[in-house]
Amino acid sequence: MAEIDAIVVGSGPNGLAAAVTLARAGLKVVVYERNSTIGGGSRTAELTLPGFLHDICSAVHPMALASGFFRRFQLDKRITLSVPEISYGHPLDGGRAGIAWRDIERTADGLGVDGAAWKQLMGPLAAKADRVAQFTGSQLLQVPRHPLTVAAFGLRVLEQGLPTWNLRFRDDVAPAMLTGVAAHSIRPMPSLSTAAAALSLGTYAHARGWPIPIGGSQSIIDALADDLRAHGGEIITDTEIQSLDDLPDSTAVLLDVSAKALLRIATLPPSYVRRVERFSFGNAVAKVDFALSGPVPWANDDLRRAGTLHVGGTRAEIAGSEADVAAGRHSDNPYVLVAQPSLADPSRAPAGAHVLWAYTHVPRNSHLDQTEAITRQIERFAPGFRDVILASSSLSAQDMENHNPNYVGGDIASGTASVRQLLARPVLSPEPWRTPAPGVYLCSSSTPPGPGVTGLPGYYAARSALANEFGITAAPSLAIHQPAL
Ligand SMILES: Cc1cc2nc3c(=O)[nH]c(=O)nc-3n(C[C@H](O)[C@H](O)[C@H](O)COP(=O)(O)OP(=O)(O)OC[C@H]3O[C@@H](n4cnc5c(N)ncnc54)[C@H](O)[C@@H]3O)c2cc1C
Repeated sequence: MAEIDAIVVGSGPNGLAAAVTLARAGLKVVVYERNSTIGGGSRTAELTLPGFLHDICSAVHPMALASGFFRRFQLDKRITLSVPEISYGHPLDGGRAGIAWRDIERTADGLGVDGAAWKQLMGPLAAKADRVAQFTGSQLLQVPRHPLTVAAFGLRVLEQGLPTWNLRFRDDVAPAMLTGVAAHSIRPMPSLSTAAAALSLGTYAHARGWPIPIGGSQSIIDALADDLRAHGGEIITDTEIQSLDDLPDSTAVLLDVSAKALLRIATLPPSYVRRVERFSFGNAVAKVDFALSGPVPWANDDLRRAGTLHVGGTRAEIAGSEADVAAGRHSDNPYVLVAQPSLADPSRAPAGAHVLWAYTHVPRNSHLDQTEAITRQIERFAPGFRDVILASSSLSAQDMENHNPNYVGGDIASGTASVRQLLARPVLSPEPWRTPAPGVYLCSSSTPPGPGVTGLPGYYAARSALANEFGITAAPSLAIHQPAL
């Protein structure tokens, strides 16, 4: 092996984003992965029956078209991202539903008396979606580049993040829709962090959309790995790194591990260890994948075309189920996040059949199988759902951590996404990716800007390492190379 400049531990989207960025700067990079397959939270496999391709973790990628890293990497030119015309749907009892079309006008038309209020709330953000993505996808401890957009975003976060959150709308559909998106952050509501999630993800829903990669989330990983190898990088699987002493010499080490694992793997000064120990992990996810003989028989026809669904009823019901989880209880009326990937990508299942991806929120470390709870909640809005189930595969929160130690206790964000922890991730610092250990960086979603398949924590960590360890301050080009004429 040639002399190594940089080692990346972990081949999740952030580890590979870091590795590609370093390799594109001309460095010799080696990635170590504990699993036999690469990709961490972005992998696709036949979990149920032959011919049914399920996304093990991430399924829908609002940031695939919005993240600054993926835009530099030209992800949309390397893989096919199918963008459903309905970004998300929200079933309510009696066959009613809120439908977030990419087209905001069409969404507003469907909201009747609340249509104008929806447009007032989301329209100015959707019109500046790239600026919203630039702000939410950065280290928040910096002077905003687009202060007017940030102010518009901040005012709306205050409106939807405080106990007065019900003042804007008259009907129950629009508030339920916002709450369904807010609940992605697995936090009690209303809060500023859940409102920020609702407004940022809600913005992309009406802008570039919520894409589903053809071939599954694995295709994002494969594109990153191909680029890395094309630039001399190497990936070594089936190798868990317990300590930095396990690694060959290199100038820099970037760890795509949780903040908790960082403390185990690296030797760090006690004052820094105490700060990282204050970083907390949140509640968890339990997941079920279904192989179906046909589409889900949603009572509302439009829902049969939605890429993503937020299932759990009204704003009050979803806030109630998230409050249960925050109090350490499994909700009797759980919030369920559902994706219908095979509607956008028929290659995921045999002709006429479908895969369905679903998870619910549970207290951290829960070992309970949620298959029945999720099935019951879907059946409430899609009578006859049970009849189309051919097979299912379930992961409890505990299984989630066993499968990937970055998801501590089943926390798929690798650290609570509260406002405090979005700022101090895992510590309050202008350069939180850089640790006090010489040449050692953290590049996972335990660093800014946090969870989701964005590649951004990896990209920022790599830029920090390039500047500090190699004196390279210019951003390396990540674009697809044009063939020489
Ligand atoms: C069930 C579930 C559903 C999700 N759905 C979505 C979604 O729809 N859209 C979205 O954008 N995001 C989603 N996410 C979140 C997203 O997957 C994560 O935020 C993202 O994968 C984090 O990337 P990462 O590179 O920081 O870590 P990970 O993807 O977790 O990768 C870390 C990698 O490091 C390896 N590793 C860890 N420790 C070691 C070690 N000591 N030695 C060697 N290797 C090690 C792991 O095996 C893993 O491969 C979901 C996550 C889960 C679990």
